[in-house]
Amino acid sequence: MNIRIGAHVSISGGVEKAVERQEEIGGNTGQIFAGSPRTWSVSEYEDDDGEKFQDSRDEHDQNPYVIHSTYLVNLATPKDELFQKSIDCLQAELDAAAQLGVEYVVFHPGAHTGSGRENGIERIAEGIDELDIPENVTLLLENTAGKGTTLGKSMGELREMIHEAETDSEKIGVCIDTCHAHAAGYELREKEGFQDFLQEIREDIGLEKVKVLHLNDSKDEKGSEKDNHQDIGCGEIGDKGFRNIVNAEEFEDLPMILETPSEERPGYKENLEKILELRE
Ligand SMILES: [Zn+2]
Ligand SMILES: [Zn+2]
Repeated sequence: MNIRIGAHVSISGGVEKAVERQEEIGGNTGQIFAGSPRTWSVSEYEDDDGEKFQDSRDEHDQNPYVIHSTYLVNLATPKDELFQKSIDCLQAELDAAAQLGVEYVVFHPGAHTGSGRENGIERIAEGIDELDIPENVTLLLENTAGKGTTLGKSMGELREMIHEAETDSEKIGVCIDTCHAHAAGYELREKEGFQDFLQEIREDIGLEKVKVLHLNDSKDEKGSEKDNHQDIGCGEIGDKGFRNIVNAEEFEDLPMILETPSEERPGYKENLEKILELRE
């Protein structure tokens, strides 16, 4: 297996348990939460935790790793308190990543909740500039399904956020979620549509900016703006879409992370095997 593929795994019982869970699935890269995803709490890690985690990852050849930010973070919000809380939380996650030797922290840019697109994008850029991104960690903006006032559904919007920020652009990258792209209206199944999608990435953000892929199928039709993940091949993106995605040389070297649905049946192992099956 020369590709990097793994799953989002739980850290319950200690961060090194994530490596064991990944091993069971057969993954060689992975993603974790640094705390509890529906609360503001981010676990604090000691040097010892970091060393153990890294040793264990190296031993099992699981690299790189990603921390997914909590779902509460919203840098686009016009509300000062929520904005500040979001910055503090992301900072704690970035610090946890540095402590654990995790290469990437990915977050959903947020929703402007009525303040308007321009204001929302400006706010996101302002929030990014407040962060102190540690050395060896890259902050990734994830494309979104685009529901309601959520920002970041198009590559163009992600570009605006990155360009508005004054932070060294080397410290910022993008994570592409396939379910979100499909929900946002990108065509992933037809060869031509998929090529257009790649072209838009090239033109708007640059392929070198894409650091991680989230592989999720979608329960809903293209353009639905709904964020309902489905097992690989069982949804609207289907085998056809994933065949394009996992065989695109543009994505060849990227870590691919499965996030669907949980550690239940058909489960990550089957999803991972499905991806390997679609590889040509
Ligand atoms: Zn995702
Ligand atoms: Zn999603």
